[in-house]
Amino acid sequence: MRFLITGGAGFIGVALAKSLINNGHTVRVLDDLSAGHAERLPVEVHFTRGDVEDKPKIWRLLNNVDCVYHLAARVSVPESVLYPREYNQTNVSGTVALMEAMRDAGVKRVVLASSGAIYGEQKSAIVHEELLPNPTSPYAVSKLAAENYVHTIGKLWNIETVSLRIFNAYGSGQAIPPIHAPVIPNFIRQILKNGSVVIYGKGEQIRDYIYVDDVIQALVIAATAEGINRQIINIGTGVGTSINELVSSIETVAQCKAQRIISNSVSGGVTTLIADTRRAQSMLNFTAKTSLSEGLALLIKHDPQFTN
Ligand code: NAD
Repeated sequence: MRFLITGGAGFIGVALAKSLINNGHTVRVLDDLSAGHAERLPVEVHFTRGDVEDKPKIWRLLNNVDCVYHLAARVSVPESVLYPREYNQTNVSGTVALMEAMRDAGVKRVVLASSGAIYGEQKSAIVHEELLPNPTSPYAVSKLAAENYVHTIGKLWNIETVSLRIFNAYGSGQAIPPIHAPVIPNFIRQILKNGSVVIYGKGEQIRDYIYVDDVIQALVIAATAEGINRQIINIGTGVGTSINELVSSIETVAQCKAQRIISNSVSGGVTTLIADTRRAQSMLNFTAKTSLSEGLALLIKHDPQFTN
């Protein structure tokens, strides 16, 4: 098949492109490199640097494409609190531009990388797709708007759509920016050098951490699975891990000790977010296979950020 991955030079995009290339597909990537690294892509990928809002460029890239993976986005919850307009621009306007460009391109399906963050604070710890979203950040609002645009425009112009609400993905290749770094690579880096980790509040915030290879498997299945048009599907493990448990797991796997610094100055965000995985099982025949300790061990072993 022929694929276009927007945001394909990022953490999930590179892993997806590698998997598709290994399976003999043709892959084009569009990425503005604001956070991505084109040099990490396999040489077989046709890479184009550009903005997801550049419709003429997207028109050319959509030629003869069977399926689009829409991953291009700004992805930090705390950063979105500081820059809501920029998040709206890329994550919402960028999605609308892509869908507009797809109108005449004859692409059969678009798979949107949506987010579990859309659920926000809920009464139940385990969240299923029928719950009313309760976003608590501009990032979450932007992903919810993107879902709605993808599904509505897809329906109007007869493009198959599916939104995968990915929970907290981690794995090799996830960047550690100096501010607002994702928790797992940030903690690993600190713990490996017997440094300190900052824990907000009591460290009881619970998240569903899913290893990147499992996310890729779900994305691959979503390109061709039957009967999933217009569906929203959670992609998580169904297992919750608190921040305190996460630190202990990393300490065990890395065989290093962390110095825990407790900070009450910043909110740790939503208290609990665990995916209900039943729909992913029934519609995609997908179950995450990698346990947290296995995923952490793989990450520490293979990511050059930790091995060098
Ligand atoms: P990432 O930041 O590594 O990848 C996003 C990519 O989009 C980057 O390479 C960036 O350069 C590119 N990009 C940003 N703005 C762009 C623009 N205007 N035009 C073209 N490219 C642009 O993040 P990721 O973790 O790989 O996330 C990929 C997708 O998955 C995002 O849509 C994100 O919202 C979603 N998602 C990720 C997670 C996670 O835990 N990593 C969880 C839920 C959802």
